[in-house]
Amino acid sequence: MDIECDKCGEVFGEGFHRYIEEVEVNGEVEEHCSSCRAKRCAEELETETRERLPTLIDLFNAMKADDDSLPRWDSLPTYGGDEITDTESVWSWNETHMIVGDGQCDLEIVSREDWNNRSK
Ligand SMILES: [Zn+2]
Repeated sequence: MDIECDKCGEVFGEGFHRYIEEVEVNGEVEEHCSSCRAKRCAEELETETRERLPTLIDLFNAMKADDDSLPRWDSLPTYGGDEITDTESVWSWNETHMIVGDGQCDLEIVSREDWNNRSK
């Protein structure tokens, strides 16, 4: 019998039971697959980090200080504004600014406008 993930709708064959787990959502038990679980963990970590570092500047300072409680740089929270699609060397952003750099040494905050002009 196939099992369908209640959350993402992915269907798993009989051999895949171990990838399904029961999760309580608003008091009801749902069956979620492992990819949903991984996604949920990432979302929780992101929310937690955003609560601890409520602005882009806070995040920037933590990254500069090599704060080891930060998630991996590719799972950092963002702070609103238009989604940036070309995220190469871009780690986070808010409505007006973004954190860019290839590594910790050249990490900087630039305005979205400056970055757009630079990439041209
Ligand atoms: Zn799923």
